[in-house]
Parts: sequence; C-alpha cells; structure tokens
Amino acid sequence: MSKDLRISVIGGGAAGFFAALSAKYHHPQAHVQILEKTSHFLAKVKISGGGRCNVCHAEFNNRKLAEHYPRGEKFLKKAFEQFNAANTMEWFEQRNVVLKTYPDGCVFPLSNSSQSIMDCFLRESKKLDIELLLHHSIDTMEKHEDGSFTLRSKDKIITADRVIVTTGGQPKLSGLAWLSALGHTVIPPVPSLFTFNMPNEAIKEFMGLVVEKATVRIEGQKLLGKGPLLITHWGMSGPAILQLSAWGARILAELNYQFSILVNWLDEMKEAELRLILDQTRKIHGGKMMSNHCPFPIPTRLWNFLLTKNEILPASRWNEVNPKQVNKLVNTLLNDRYQVMGKTTFKEEFVTAGGIDLAEIDVQSMESKVIPGLYFAGELLDIDGITGGFNFQAAWTTGYIAGKHSGL
Ligand SMILES: Cc1cc2nc3c(=O)[nH]c(=O)nc-3n(C[C@H](O)[C@H](O)[C@H](O)COP(=O)(O)OP(=O)(O)OC[C@H]3O[C@@H](n4cnc5c(N)ncnc54)[C@H](O)[C@@H]3O)c2cc1C
Repeated sequence: MSKDLRISVIGGGAAGFFAALSAKYHHPQAHVQILEKTSHFLAKVKISGGGRCNVCHAEFNNRKLAEHYPRGEKFLKKAFEQFNAANTMEWFEQRNVVLKTYPDGCVFPLSNSSQSIMDCFLRESKKLDIELLLHHSIDTMEKHEDGSFTLRSKDKIITADRVIVTTGGQPKLSGLAWLSALGHTVIPPVPSLFTFNMPNEAIKEFMGLVVEKATVRIEGQKLLGKGPLLITHWGMSGPAILQLSAWGARILAELNYQFSILVNWLDEMKEAELRLILDQTRKIHGGKMMSNHCPFPIPTRLWNFLLTKNEILPASRWNEVNPKQVNKLVNTLLNDRYQVMGKTTFKEEFVTAGGIDLAEIDVQSMESKVIPGLYFAGELLDIDGITGGFNFQAAWTTGYIAGKHSGL
C-alpha cells in the first residue's frame, strides 16, 4: 500500500520530524514531505532546555511516566506501549547522539547542545530522502471522495494521500480554527508552566534564594506542588511552582491568575513533629540566639525573614519566645500565605494546555476518528506535561505512532 503514497506532514517541529522519519522508515517507498510555515525548522528544539534540549526523562515505567501529564495521562499510557522513554533513548543513541541522564532523571545530549538533536533530524531526513519545504503555511485542507487531500497555503496547492498535522501548541483558539472547520473539537488553549507574580510581597527582596524541599498549595483547591522553590525578583518559581502551574493551568486561568498560595517551608512536615522540634530546641539550645540557630534546612536569610514576619526579633534567645509567638511561627512555617497577582512565562520551557480533543483520536494510530487519513501528533493535541523532558516525549511518541500508521 505504501508504494507511491504521498504523506504530507504539516509543521517542521519536534513532532513533525519524528513523524516524517517514522513514516519514511516504516514505508520507504512513500513520498514523505514536511511543510513548515516559517523560515526555520525545529525552532523550539533549538531554544529548548536553555539551548541544551531536555530530550526526555529516564522513567521506564509507562504508568509512572504517564503520571507526569496533567492532560493526556490515560491516552499516553496506552501510546507509550508503542514508543516510550527507553525507545526514545535507543532511537537517538542508534543515530549517534550520545545522551546523558542526570540524577533528577532528565536526559540531555552529552554535547549539552540542542544542535546535536537538530543535526540528527536533518541528517536522517536527508538520508531517507524526505522533502523539506520552508515557507509553506497551510491554511486550509479539503478531503476528497477518492480519499486524497488538498492542502492550500497562500500561493501553493499540495495534494496528499495522508496528512499528519503537527503544528504545535496554539495560544489562541483561532490558531486551530482551520481544524475545527473540518469537524474536530478543540479544547480551548490556556498556558501551562508559568511562574507566579507577587508584586505586593516583601519576600521578593530575597530573590535568588532557594528552598530545596517545599510544598505549595493553592488556597481553596486540592492542588499541590512539591520540590525546590526559588524566590525571584517578581515572585516565586522553581519546580514546586511550575508543577502547580501545570496541574492548575485551567483553574488558575479561570481565577484570572489572582489567588493565594500556602507554602510549607519544611517539605511535608506536620504540626506535631514541628512542635516537638521547637520544644527540644528550646530545651537544649534555650540560651542561643534564634537567628544563629535555625533547626530547619532553610536558608538563614529566609529564617530571619519568617521570624520578623511574626514579630520575633532575630536576636531573641530561644527561651525568650512566648507560646503565642510559637503558635504564629508554627503557622508561618507550615502555611505561609502569599497573594499571587499574575503570571510570568517560564523561560526554559512553556507549553499550551488544550488543543485537539483526544476523544476524537485513535491512540493506536493517531488517526482522526472524524476524518480517516488525517493524523495528529505533538503539542496541538490536548496533551501537556510538567517540566523535565515530558513534553518532547509526548511529541516523539505521538509522532512515531502517526508516522508508522500513516502509511498502512
Ligand atoms: C522555551 C522553551 C523551551 C522548551 N524546552 C523543553 C525541553 O527542554 N524539554 C521538553 O520536553 N519540552 C520543552 N519545551 C516544550 C517543547 O518544545 C514542545 O512541547 C515541543 O516543541 C512540541 O513539539 P511540536 O512539534 O508539537 O510543536 P512545535 O515544536 O511548536 O512545532 C510546530 C511547527 O509547526 C509550524 N507550523 C505551525 N502552523 C503551521 C502551519 N499552518 N503550516 C505549516 N507549519 C506550521 C511551526 O512554525 C513550528 O515549526 C520547551 C518549550 C519552550 C517554548
């Protein structure tokens, strides 16, 4: 069937290249082309991970891997049965891209440069004779009775037997209008992976300060973010905040990014354990100055700030604080409240939540259930992950499956 089949991939990003390479690899006789609207292929891959490209995450259990996706978890769990993190690493290493796994599980090219990934894709495309076309912005698509498609850009008309759409996350609903015109349901897009702005909070003065293990909750919601928390000159960032922004992307958009957070500066410590530590410190180190003796793994500058916030002079001795002050300190250490007023896009990685409704896609093939012969992959699907290489993994997995099945 793949003889002379024309497969057009719309979008020359991560998912587009992976889909095209998979299509040509599995169906060598098909004519495969990538149509990219801009003057550059792989623009996001180039800037990804601060220019280093966090290719994937070394999580080899498909169920656990899928748990890193606020949208698309169940869908991807099935998709990972065809192509998962181990397959990704093997794919790159077989093509001479040496990868390095860091202790947190993030996988980068050993070269520490996204150029290695881009070079690999361009080299492989050339080797497999994939047609690469820039300045091809596809604006409309028609399907004909004989099963073929006509794709139109401003000044070009292209005919294809199969089409794989990989046009990436679209910040506005209008960016997906041409696909909803074909009968596809689009889940309205909202941003994910952003940091919190706190213009009225004094804690901003401590920019650059990191607490390695914090837990952050959105007041009035069940959402939770865990891990390192970074104070910035505009508010808060770091994995704990980014996780919250991803899991809460839709709720926080509804709140217009105006909400309160509660920070537990001591990881997940509970009140009883904290009171025990405070009691023991007072007994054993009662004569010591509080500013010099912090019994918790938090930076001294933050400790002094939290003391002052509770009207405890940092120069006080441990045996000088009264029970009321202790109560207030306990509350601040475990439930420190901050007002968020807006968001800032995370510069290292940001994605769009929302996109093509997964209910209309066959997970085994990535084929549209609405229009046979049409396939989807990458961030334009209603899939997004937290930081750590999960977003590229979704692009590789869905691209691989779409390419493989598009020629059958
Ligand atoms: C700054 C930044 C850093 C990131 N770092 C990481 C990271 O380290 N690890 C990670 O896992 N994820 C990272 N991400 C997320 C990751 O880059 C995306 O999830 C991924 O690129 C999605 O791939 P895609 O192919 O679906 O979309 P894209 O990479 O966005 O590619 C879509 C392509 O389609 C083209 N296109 C759009 N419309 C049309 C049209 N009508 N006709 C023709 N072409 C069209 C676009 O120009 C683009 O080239 C980062 C994102 C950003 C913004």
